[in-house]
Amino acid sequence: MIALTAARLFTPLERIEQPLLLLEEGVIREVSSHAGREIPKDCRVVDFRDGIIAPGLIDIHIHGAAGRDVMKGDSESLATIERFLAKHAVTSYLPTTITAPVDSTLAALESLANAIEAAAKRQEGGELRARPRGIHIEGPFLSHTRRGVHPTENLLPPTLKMFERFWEAARGHIRVMTIAPELPGAPEVIADAARRGVCVSLGHSDADLKAARAGIAAGARHATHTFNAMRPLRHRDPGILGAVLTDSNLSADIIADGLHVDPAIVQLFLQAKGQDRAVFITDSTAATGMPDGIYKIGTLEMEVKRGVCLARGTLAGSTLTLDQAIRNVMQFVRCGLEQTLRPATLNPARVAGLAGKGILEVGVEADLVVWSPEGEVRNTIIRGAGL
Ligand SMILES: [Zn+2]
Repeated sequence: MIALTAARLFTPLERIEQPLLLLEEGVIREVSSHAGREIPKDCRVVDFRDGIIAPGLIDIHIHGAAGRDVMKGDSESLATIERFLAKHAVTSYLPTTITAPVDSTLAALESLANAIEAAAKRQEGGELRARPRGIHIEGPFLSHTRRGVHPTENLLPPTLKMFERFWEAARGHIRVMTIAPELPGAPEVIADAARRGVCVSLGHSDADLKAARAGIAAGARHATHTFNAMRPLRHRDPGILGAVLTDSNLSADIIADGLHVDPAIVQLFLQAKGQDRAVFITDSTAATGMPDGIYKIGTLEMEVKRGVCLARGTLAGSTLTLDQAIRNVMQFVRCGLEQTLRPATLNPARVAGLAGKGILEVGVEADLVVWSPEGEVRNTIIRGAGL
């Protein structure tokens, strides 16, 4: 048994001062306060002093990192990405596909399904690696008008048949699907995916308010990188953003790098979605953690200058890490670490349907992060490894 002590712990639903966390075989056995509880005798004690213990971060939108792209899907690329993520406090993630020719997408889904199944069996040892927990499929069912950098020639109208092909290639590991609800056929595909337990997310969309609400009625319950690749909010034509920002049942995510949206928009977003429904993502690419240069996202080439990814003049994902997003939000809205944690832990776990993730409670795997009071990552612990 291992006993962890620190200054504070966020479950993140509760705040515990002078916490005592007991771990055994990578699983949390007890979460309590050190104040009224002796440390059991046979424990190895690790004291994090003024550190803050919180759940490992969960990123549901990752195209790549550390020079690698998830579309390649080979085990070496994923291992490189996963080691990088673990250094940035991420313990679970959803590798995210970008629109590509159908055969490339099917091949990527198959490789990612292999990686997810292998990771579930993996024992921690040596260098820590974040675990892929499912796939986010971003495209090809996106709007031509709001496609961002998704290649126009590979966009497709949604059909049940095509979704079925993706589902089979991914062997049921699709957890999130981004779709433009205004496309013909979208409501049927949204309903079918939702029935299979996929979190259907509205995005890359030029939907007006009515079409967005029809997508939600069909089963969509989330929105992808709010404000980016969406029809803009106008006071007489609120469009998809009118639905995303006002529907209290819908969760939504945002890229808090200070480039994709202004810090004031992050504040507006947090006020609209609240502590229960806001999610932070990175939309990170192969260029994340790398020097400026030329990188690929899917089949597309992009140029990175001063950390900004551009493909033919359009923003192509980010070089953001999720721990940096947390520090950004602390600065953007002048809040403490506590207020930034739910959107990066429990909320994304709920979006992706990851039971026992993003929360510190008895019986769950010990995926944790120790933070400094300023929001720097001191330790990442995955299934109890890393201590
Ligand atoms: Zn993306």
